[in-house]
Order: sequence, then C-alpha cells, then structure tokens
Amino acid sequence: MKRWDVAVIGGGAAGLMAARTAARCGAETVLLEGNPRPGKKLLSTGNGRCNLTNRAIGPEHYRGDDQKIAAVLDSFPADRVIRAFEAIGLLCRADGKGRVYPNSLQAASVLRALWSACEEAGVEICADFPVDAVAPEPDGFRITGGQGACLRAERVILACGGKAAPKLSCKAGGYGLARLLGHSVTALSPALAPLKSPSKVCGALKGVRCRAKASLLCKGEEIYSESGEVIFGEGQLSGICIFNLSARLRAAKGGPLAVSLDLLESLDACAVAEYLQNLRLARPALPAGELFAGALPVRMGQEVAKAAGLPREKTIARLTESELARAVETVKHFEFPITGPAGWEAAQVTAGGVPLREIDETTMASLRCPGLYLAGELLDVDGDCGGYNLHWAWATGLLAGEAAGRGGKA
Ligand SMILES: Cc1cc2nc3c(=O)[nH]c(=O)nc-3n(C[C@H](O)[C@H](O)[C@H](O)COP(=O)(O)OP(=O)(O)OC[C@H]3O[C@@H](n4cnc5c(N)ncnc54)[C@H](O)[C@@H]3O)c2cc1C
Repeated sequence: MKRWDVAVIGGGAAGLMAARTAARCGAETVLLEGNPRPGKKLLSTGNGRCNLTNRAIGPEHYRGDDQKIAAVLDSFPADRVIRAFEAIGLLCRADGKGRVYPNSLQAASVLRALWSACEEAGVEICADFPVDAVAPEPDGFRITGGQGACLRAERVILACGGKAAPKLSCKAGGYGLARLLGHSVTALSPALAPLKSPSKVCGALKGVRCRAKASLLCKGEEIYSESGEVIFGEGQLSGICIFNLSARLRAAKGGPLAVSLDLLESLDACAVAEYLQNLRLARPALPAGELFAGALPVRMGQEVAKAAGLPREKTIARLTESELARAVETVKHFEFPITGPAGWEAAQVTAGGVPLREIDETTMASLRCPGLYLAGELLDVDGDCGGYNLHWAWATGLLAGEAAGRGGKA
C-alpha cells in the first residue's frame, strides 16, 4: 500500500490551497475529495464571481477566538493571499468596497488556477473518495473511504468544510473525523443566512428590495447593526446586511429577537417629521396610505403606513399630530420579530466547529493529535460577507500546507 507524506481530506478552497502548498514543499501529497470533482462550492461563491478576499481583512470581521484569529490574519493579510494567486497566474481586482475578485469575475478561473497548480506541483487528486475513517498509527495515519479503499499517510490535513449549503459538499463531512482524532466540536448553527420572521408584512412585501439600516435586537437591546439592501421574501428577510446580522445570533442569548429597520437612514426623526409636515402643506389631499410614496418603494411605503395604524381613507391634511409622529417612529424603527436563521440549505457558512484553542495557530497543527492539521470552515471561525470566509480558508490552507509539507522541519 502506497504511503503518502501528506493526505489532504477535502478538495475545497482550503484543501486545494493546502495540497498545492504541501507538494511545493517537497511532500508527496494526495488530495481526497468526496464529490466527483473538487471545488464544487468554490464555483458557487460570490454569485459565480468568487469574492476571494477583502482589502480590509481584520479580526473584527470574524467570530471565534479573537487572539488566534488575529495571529493568523497578521501573517496572512489580503496582499499575501493576492500574491499567492498571482504566483499561479490569477490576476485579481478589487471593487470600491475592497472586495477582491478574480480579474475574469469568474469563480471557474480560481478553481482552474488552483487545480492545475496542484497538478503541476505533483498532487495526486482522488475524487469520489469520501473519507469515513482516519486512524492514527505509530508512524502516521490509516485512511479509509471511497468504498473500502484504504491508504496511509504520515501527516493528514483535515479541510472538510462545514454544514452550510450541503448540496455543494459530499455527505461524509469532517466533524466526525475530527472527533475520532480527539477534537471537540462546538455547537453548529447556520450563519450568513436569511432570517426567519413570522410577520405577515414579509409576505406582503415579497420581492421588494430597499436600503435600510438593519439592527439586530435581543430583548430590545441592539446587538449589531449594518446598512445595506434588505430583500423581503415569504417568512424571511434577506440581503448582505441581514446575512451579517445572522452571523451575530450566537451573541444574542435568551430573549425575543427582532430586526429593526431604519428605512430613512439619511434623515433623523426630526428631518422625517419636517418632510411630512412640508408634504402636508404641499399635497393636503394625498391619502395617508401614500404618505411615503415619494420616499420609499411604493409597497414598502404602504406597509409602513399600515403598520403605523394610519386610516387609509384619511387625507394627509386630516392626520393628527400623533398619527404623524407614529408614522415617523415606524419608518425609523420598522420592527420584525425573528425566530432564527433560515436552514443549512440557505446558509453560506457554519458558525461553530473545532475550537482554535485545540490548534497551534502558527502551523494549524492539532494540539490533540500529532501529525494532524486542520484548515478552513471546519474550525470554529466564521467571517462576514465580503471575502472573509474564503480568506480564512486560503490563509489556514497555506499555513497547514507549509507545516505539513515540511513535516515539522523549519
Ligand atoms: C453560495 C455560497 C456563496 C459563497 N460566497 C462566498 C464568497 O464570495 N466569498 C467568501 O469569502 N466566502 C463565500 N462563501 C463561503 C465559502 O465558500 C466557504 O467558507 C469556503 O468554501 C470554506 O472552504 P473550505 O475549504 O473550508 O470548505 P469547502 O469549500 O466546503 O470544501 C470542503 C470540501 O471537503 C469535501 N469533503 C467533506 N467531507 C469530506 C470527507 N469526509 N472526505 C472527502 N471529502 C470531504 C467537500 O465535498 C468539499 O469539497 C460562500 C458559500 C456559499 C455556500
């Protein structure tokens, strides 16, 4: 039975990067992927454009062990990841928000570059090989899977990803393997996902998109807020700012949750009140239901007026001062009760995983099992939308690949 220097389990972002790096360090490397081809999830990232890192990389965009995350990011700023891609011929470009994409704006270019760089470095890629057991032996590991196939490797890199978007990953997964090898796994929950709301207003606004400052509230206290486009759907709120709110749900413990939308963020409450008073003078016959027709998407404005309890048949001239004040309050704090994130299918990443306290952050080596390394989403780290999760996968894949490839030698 052939014995490899390094076996990488999982051919996603972290695994491909780790395998290429290990092979370049001179290690005989095999990459084992459960799907028929590596990189299926990578092809779906960034709506097929692959937002591969962000110029504003920093620990504030991640949840997990802050110190260990900072240590990894310090050694792998965005430039280092961009240089690693440019070294394999992939040109990158940043948009106005610092989000970095391949110059082609095609995720397929990223996968092609990584895959061919793996092959050129001599990585043996074994697809259709879902690993179901990894057993430590005196001088390495015995790996079984792929319908009874078995191989041996001196060192193993686990890069099996998480539970999000399960249709894009093989079913075998990596949490069971990590546990078999002595690691713990913290509670797992879907993150970067739409938020579910029982409010009928979501259904009434289905398909409507509008800009807002969205705040996540727990027992009425603000946990986090972010501005952006909110998209309404049957029983849910979505959009990048909502995804980023969903990633903060772990911090919201033991209380009713809500999202409050400030639909006119650029105006404070006094300015909104002044706008409505001026509107009353200029257009006294305007029906109350049309109060926000000039400021918000039409259906949105109608739902705000309804939620504020304004009688539809009344004209704006006949609205009382308290009715106008309610309209101001509602448009600045349009609240939706939240029951949790949408399921794994709709999530982009996993919150939770193998805790970083069980990992040496300078090499991604396991502190529980000699010869084992872990990388990517399998770890208890999740980042914001904007290239932060792939950045984590590349950075930890590079670190693990370097350390496993050298076999602990400097
Ligand atoms: C729709 C979508 C869009 C996204 N867009 C972005 C984006 O633009 N920017 C960004 O930063 N992040 C994005 N993400 C998140 C990002 O894709 C992940 O965080 C990243 O892919 C994680 O990399 P990974 O290598 O750890 O895991 P994965 O990419 O999930 O790779 C893990 C691989 O391991 C394989 N595997 C699992 N178990 C086994 C096993 N037992 N044996 C063999 N193989 C196994 C899986 O089949 C999979 O191929 C997006 C996610 C989704 C779902």
